[in-house]
Amino acid sequence: HSTILEPFAPALTVADLSFSYPDRTSVLEQISFELQANERIGVLGPNGAGKTTLFKIICGLLCPTQGEVKLFNQPVETGSFRSDLGFVFQNPDDQLFSASVWEDIAFGPQNMGLPPDEVDRCVAAALALTGTQSLTQRLPHHLSGGEKRMVAIATVVAMNPRLIIYDEPSANLDLRARRRLIQYLQDSEETIMVASHDLEMILEVCDRILLIDHGHIVADGHPPEIMQQRSLMEAHGLEVPYSLAGRIEAKRHL
Ligand code: ADP
Repeated sequence: HSTILEPFAPALTVADLSFSYPDRTSVLEQISFELQANERIGVLGPNGAGKTTLFKIICGLLCPTQGEVKLFNQPVETGSFRSDLGFVFQNPDDQLFSASVWEDIAFGPQNMGLPPDEVDRCVAAALALTGTQSLTQRLPHHLSGGEKRMVAIATVVAMNPRLIIYDEPSANLDLRARRRLIQYLQDSEETIMVASHDLEMILEVCDRILLIDHGHIVADGHPPEIMQQRSLMEAHGLEVPYSLAGRIEAKRHL
């Protein structure tokens, strides 16, 4: 039955989730939401809101104090690797450590125990999707910021996850690299969660926003509808640039 029902299961279910660090700092308080397959959700909130803690729980790096998290209907078990989930770190240098781009991208599929021809196929697909084919023999640490970002994404895409979490993906990118990233995210076919302060990118890429503050979900909805509520955004430490007003208005009427 599970194979029949699975395509309709939510990509992510977070139910009544609370988390406190050992020093008893309460960071998430009874958070519940579902993410449907193919949704593209932007996670917004001021520093300290609890976004990173939430991602660490989804990735199985931290164990909830209360509640449950499921990925594609399977409970997340703390400490176990899930090949259906990918995580793109804020700093690409945390994701790149090999002597060549090819080796970095091949690392994940190799670790999954795939045979060499299958590894080659996964690497080729990830290179093509991220437009990094010309970089395969380069030393990752010699790449530009924009190139590193796309290679870091390729290392995750090569494992063919169904849900990818991006932590501040446009941080430290120049204008051209940022445009390229936005285009990539718009074209990507996975379910995605994007934590960012870059409201323009969220507006262009996401079809839903989850606004988190002090460990609570304070808004959940369509990006232009939430962004046009300037006082709501400002109450949670987010300033909507006036230059975005036209795009927000246009998107509201799409
Ligand atoms: P965000 O990613 O939204 O900036 P975090 O999840 O990193 O928020 O942090 C949420 C809160 O948890 C902050 O108040 C932070 O100081 C606290 N915190 C983060 N890591 C720890 C830790 N290891 N021990 C205790 N408190 C922590």
